[in-house]
Amino acid sequence: MSHRERVYQTEAIVLRRIDFGEADRLLTVFTPERGKLRLIAKGARKPSSRKSGHVELFSCGRYLVAVGHELDIVTQAETIEPFLPLHEDLLRATYAYYVAELTDAFTPEQDENRPLFTLLKEALGWLAAADDLPLVARYYEIHLLGLAGYQPQLFACGACKKPLEPETNYFSPAQGTVYCPRCGRDRIDAVELSTNALKVLRFLQTRTWDTCRLLRLGPATHAEVERLNYRYITHHLERKVKSADFIERLRRQTEAN
Ligand SMILES: [Zn+2]
Repeated sequence: MSHRERVYQTEAIVLRRIDFGEADRLLTVFTPERGKLRLIAKGARKPSSRKSGHVELFSCGRYLVAVGHELDIVTQAETIEPFLPLHEDLLRATYAYYVAELTDAFTPEQDENRPLFTLLKEALGWLAAADDLPLVARYYEIHLLGLAGYQPQLFACGACKKPLEPETNYFSPAQGTVYCPRCGRDRIDAVELSTNALKVLRFLQTRTWDTCRLLRLGPATHAEVERLNYRYITHHLERKVKSADFIERLRRQTEAN
């Protein structure tokens, strides 16, 4: 081959990893400059491979990538941040799967989204260290939705545009907006939204994680926020989120013991 291979260097976080062929891995990664990419790591399953330890799920690495005919090829990989606790604790791992699955589901390939890369990297770090993993998930959901172009409107009624009052309002997953009681009551696409849940959603949407991590939510409010986010997410994906089912099963098991 006489033509020069084109190569690029990028930071990358592994969202998905599947075996491919005899010894290769097919990676779905998220990068700062190129968004989501599908890459092939040749020979990565051979224990002798210098790539093998550096393309682990959820890890952040620096890759050297060669442009291929169909898929680009990882030629070198070096771990920057392995997020080891995500591999050592089942619950942390499960939440990391959830965050990775959502990111994969809400992003097109090769669409630069640097703020989302930063958020994803931070969120994996929080999941590796935080006590309240469900709160990390709620924060991630709200901010991922915003950065992916589905920012829910939480401050003014979606119909009459009046500021929402502290009372039971209505949320429409189809419209991604809250409605006041007068405009929302008769909408068949809208569900009730309590004052507390609305406050929490607004707080998560507008504050940094350093502030939000201090929140201590009552179980009923947390459950309502989780349900609403999940309805909104599944409405846009038009399917269930596999790892969310797994979190739910794990939770029921823990409660039963
Ligand atoms: Zn209204």
